Amino acid sequence: MTPANAAKPQTVAILGATGAVGQELLALLAERAFPIKELRLLASPRSAGVAVPWQGEKLEVQAVDEAALQGVDLVLASAGGSVSRQWAPIAVQQGAIVIDNSSAFRLDPEVPLVVPEVNPAAALQHKGIIANPNCTTILLSLALAPLAAQRPLKRVVVSTYQSASGAGARAMEELQQLSRTVLDGGEPQSEVLPYSLAFNLFLHNSPLQANGYCEEELKMLYETRKIMGLDQLRLTATCVRVPVLRAHSEAVNLEFEEPFPVEEARALLSAAPGLELIEDFATNRFPMPSDVTGRDAVAVGRIRQDLSNPNALELWLCGDQIRKGAALNAIQIAELLQQQVAP
Ligand code: NAP
Repeated sequence: MTPANAAKPQTVAILGATGAVGQELLALLAERAFPIKELRLLASPRSAGVAVPWQGEKLEVQAVDEAALQGVDLVLASAGGSVSRQWAPIAVQQGAIVIDNSSAFRLDPEVPLVVPEVNPAAALQHKGIIANPNCTTILLSLALAPLAAQRPLKRVVVSTYQSASGAGARAMEELQQLSRTVLDGGEPQSEVLPYSLAFNLFLHNSPLQANGYCEEELKMLYETRKIMGLDQLRLTATCVRVPVLRAHSEAVNLEFEEPFPVEEARALLSAAPGLELIEDFATNRFPMPSDVTGRDAVAVGRIRQDLSNPNALELWLCGDQIRKGAALNAIQIAELLQQQVAP
């Protein structure tokens, strides 16, 4: 941020402030010294009155309604698709810009879908709402963009290893609790996720479509195409929930129109914004969720030639999806807008 935009404090509302992403938004607003005149914490009536400490103050959570959105300049929404569909248009009508973490508007042609390191200019085309992409897609796009800028990208095959936190704060609690149950010799019974994740994994729990893919897998296809402006990109995904508390991992195969030398890819990925290389073939040390938990950078490594295809590369990445996959990306978008209005 520049000193000029630091002088433009805004009234900011976090819609979904008590959730996993909402709590991270709160932490990041403080950490990045986002210029704030007033911060409103909004959630469902269940959380109304809850006091949340922030910057030495106690902020009280309010139930979202029209009055709570009045006078707000920026809404950071992370309360799910139906809540965003209900309240984002009202917030915009009342003069706010909404940066939305849900899937409600991501594929709307009128709404930019933005990863600041990949397509920052799109943010400036907004008509009030800007969508934050799906978490796995944000992490993936950071690795695809610097390579696709050098050689035409033809096809991506990705398998994800998604942590409990991707399903929200209650899913994280459930994984911890059910892991204790199993260690104590009990039978884990899940309530938040469809199956117990404790010492287990299962295919992603988003709704299955007629073509056999789940919604999360199709989000990766359509959102990657939109962010990268590659309408014809072929992408197939298999999304899996794994018993990791926080941070997602992805095994990625990238096919180009021509061979892509590994050393060139490694140099590009090492220098790309938002990425960090963790790669030591001598000690078999590559990115792990624990390397990125609570951190901004998405870690990549094990970049190698695909032995089955001379035009393809393999790589592995890990990223904290509550942070770069959601809250950090949203705040980076807000910072982009700030830079735009700064004199
Ligand atoms: P979460 O931990 O379950 O939190 C949900 C939040 O929404 C809570 O603050 C909840 O408030 C609020 N909420 C629920 N119903 C509401 C209503 N009717 N009116 C107002 N507020 C309501 O979920 P999350 O993981 O933070 O995810 C939030 C959104 O971000 C979802 O759209 C999700 O898909 C998206 N997202 C999540 C991740 C991730 O890694 N977790 C990544 C990218 C995007 P109460 O406490 O009052 O119930």
